[in-house]
Amino acid sequence: MTAGPAAWRTQAACRGTDPALFYDAHPAAVAAAKTTCAACPVRAACAAHAVATGEEYGVWGGLAADERPTPPPRPDPAPGPASRISDDELYDLLIDADPDRPALDQLLDHIWLPTATAYKTLERAVRLGVVERRGRALFPTRH
Ligand code: SF4
Repeated sequence: MTAGPAAWRTQAACRGTDPALFYDAHPAAVAAAKTTCAACPVRAACAAHAVATGEEYGVWGGLAADERPTPPPRPDPAPGPASRISDDELYDLLIDADPDRPALDQLLDHIWLPTATAYKTLERAVRLGVVERRGRALFPTRH
């Protein structure tokens, strides 16, 4: 059987810990998060995921946001202002999405958005009930 793209998450040392610790910018919290990461068997996959998806916040793979390499560029945006997506379009896009792939990846497969806008859009999707928070990431809701 082939492991899914997020299979590394099942081995995460931070599973079951308070995700807030990994997003707290206080130096003591950052140090505590890094201590957990130091013993994590999937640290490299976690760091690579954070870079590939342009995670702007938190400690991933033992690296704080300002310690991570610059993410690769997203596909060229369509000319003009950033695309908008209505609640109805967002619902239709994510209601049948793969619940095992990060929602951000699937959203960006369909529509180019600046990273900050994509996160805000996914927060809207959470309110619509088509995306849920699992651990530290957002995934399409399992039905
Ligand atoms: S943030 Fe990443 S490296 Fe750190 S414990 Fe969690 S899965 Fe492991």
